[in-house]
Amino acid sequence: MRYAMVIDTKKCVGCSDCVVACQTENNVPEGFCRDWITEVVSGSYPNLELELRSERCNHCEEAPCVRCCPTGASHVVEGGIVLVNASECIGCGACIASCPYDARFQHPDGHVDKCTFCHHRLKKGQLPACVSVCPTKCMYFGDLDDPNSEVSQLLKDRKYKTLAPEAGTKPHVFYLI
Ligand code: SF4
Ligand code: SF4
Ligand code: SF4
Repeated sequence: MRYAMVIDTKKCVGCSDCVVACQTENNVPEGFCRDWITEVVSGSYPNLELELRSERCNHCEEAPCVRCCPTGASHVVEGGIVLVNASECIGCGACIASCPYDARFQHPDGHVDKCTFCHHRLKKGQLPACVSVCPTKCMYFGDLDDPNSEVSQLLKDRKYKTLAPEAGTKPHVFYLI
């Protein structure tokens, strides 16, 4: 099993419902976020294009944050989900510096925090909170190793990209373009 999120940039309207849902579901402290909306304008006037996309930790297969963690607090669990064990984290910040996506932050309690792919919800058979609230249904979640899963089918049928592929991290968040 390899969990992945697939996000359709053609359907995202940048409403930030995913951000609010994550903050509520995961008690994200005020002033911080585990997911965020990025707006990218390309082309030249009058032929401008706007891409809106919801970003978060990519749960990278080759995760520098896991490799550099001196205590093992940053670790990988089943399905390839990258987690931080708060009780083992000494807050050194090495993982924050190593992440090419700026996906981690220092929690006011002293440990480092980030998106967990809502691991606690997956264990109950629920979708991640951000995926479940999206009003345009632009986010999909499932198993890359299952060729019949919605995420596998979308990646087979549609053009997609990952962010900063040059970093060599093998992200597990894919953007349909
Ligand atoms: Fe680590 Fe950053 Fe990749 Fe998440 S996006 S697994 S924090 S390197
Ligand atoms: Fe590991 Fe915590 Fe240091 Fe990050 S801040 S590298 S999770 S000990
Ligand atoms: Fe937040 Fe969960 Fe979505 Fe990650 S998967 S951004 S933790 S709601």
